[in-house]
Amino acid sequence: MKRVLVIGEAMVEMRPAGDKPDHYASAIAGDVYNTAVYLKRLAGEDAQVSFLTALGDDALSQRMRDTFEDEGIDTGYVRTIKGGTPGLYMIHTDDQGERSFTYWRSAAAARRMLECDSIEGLADLLSGFDLVYFSGITLAILPPDHAALLIAAAEAARPNGTTIAFDPNYRARLWSAPELAIAAFDNAFAVSDILLPGMDDEHDLYGSQSPKDTINRLQNGHPAHIVLKAGKHVHLYTNGQETGILTVTPVERPVDTTAAGDSFAAGFLSGWLDGLAPADSVARAARVAAFVVTQPGAICPKTIFSSVLKQ
Ligand code: ADP
Repeated sequence: MKRVLVIGEAMVEMRPAGDKPDHYASAIAGDVYNTAVYLKRLAGEDAQVSFLTALGDDALSQRMRDTFEDEGIDTGYVRTIKGGTPGLYMIHTDDQGERSFTYWRSAAAARRMLECDSIEGLADLLSGFDLVYFSGITLAILPPDHAALLIAAAEAARPNGTTIAFDPNYRARLWSAPELAIAAFDNAFAVSDILLPGMDDEHDLYGSQSPKDTINRLQNGHPAHIVLKAGKHVHLYTNGQETGILTVTPVERPVDTTAAGDSFAAGFLSGWLDGLAPADSVARAARVAAFVVTQPGAICPKTIFSSVLKQ
C-alpha cells in the first residue's frame, strides 16, 4: 500500500441553500483537503492518504475530524490547538450566478500546524511517505518561518525516496506582496518532483507569455513531471522523455467549478501512484475534474463519484 501525506488546511464552507438568501448549508472543504478526498476515493485500498493539518478542540473541529475519517483519510497527523478553531468561508451568489467568497481564516488553527516541528523531526515524518503533496495556499497560511521549515523538510526527505508534489494555487489576497509568493513558490518548485501549475497564475506572478516560457523556466529545476493547465482545457505535460498535449472537450454548462484544479491534482497523482504513463495520468486528471465541475460544491457525495471510478 502506498503512503501519501497531504499538508494544508480544511475549512468549514457555508454555501447558499434553497431560495432564501439567509439560508446556508455547511460542508468541509479546502484546496489540498479536496485533493486528499478525491485521491483516497480514486486509490481506495491501494493507498493510505494521511492529512497533516491543525484543528481546534471545539465541537466543529471534532466534526471535521469525523468527516475526514468518514472519507477514509488517516487523521493521525491532525494536530490539536488548545482553544483553536477552524477557518470558515461563505459563498455568495449574485443575481447572475457569479460567485464570490468571504473568508474568516486569519486565526484558523491550521496556521499553527507546524509550530512544534523541528526540521529533523518533520523531515523524518515526511520520509515515511511515498508521496507528499502541498500547495501555495499551504505556504501562504503558514508563518514564513514555518513555510521555510516545510520546504527544508521536503528537500531533506527526497533522498529517502519521498516524492514531493506541489500545486502553486496562487491566491493574491493571501500574500501581502506578489514577490513573497514568488519567493515561496520558487523554493517549492526547487524541491518538487511533480509540479501542477496553471497558466493564469504563471501569467499573473511571473509574467509568463506562453506555456513554453513556463515549461522552460520550470525545467531548470529538473522536476520529474510538469503538468501545466495551459488554457481552459489544454494541458501540457512533460517528464523529460515524454512530452505531450491533452485537449479536452469542455463540459458546456458546468454547475460549479469549485475544486476543479484540486480534483485534477487528485486524478494525476492517483495515476502516478498506479504507475500510469504521464499521458494516461493527465487524461485521468481531466476526466475526474470534468466530472467534479458537474456537481455543486467542492466535494460531491461518494455514491455519485463512484460513477467516475467505473470509467
Ligand atoms: P482551478 O482554477 O480550480 O485551478 P481550472 O479552471 O484551472 O481550475 O481547471 C482545472 C482543470 O479542471 C482544467 O484544466 C480542466 O481539466 C478541468 N475543468 C475546468 N472546467 C472545466 C469544464 N467546464 N469542462 C471540463 N473540464 C473542466
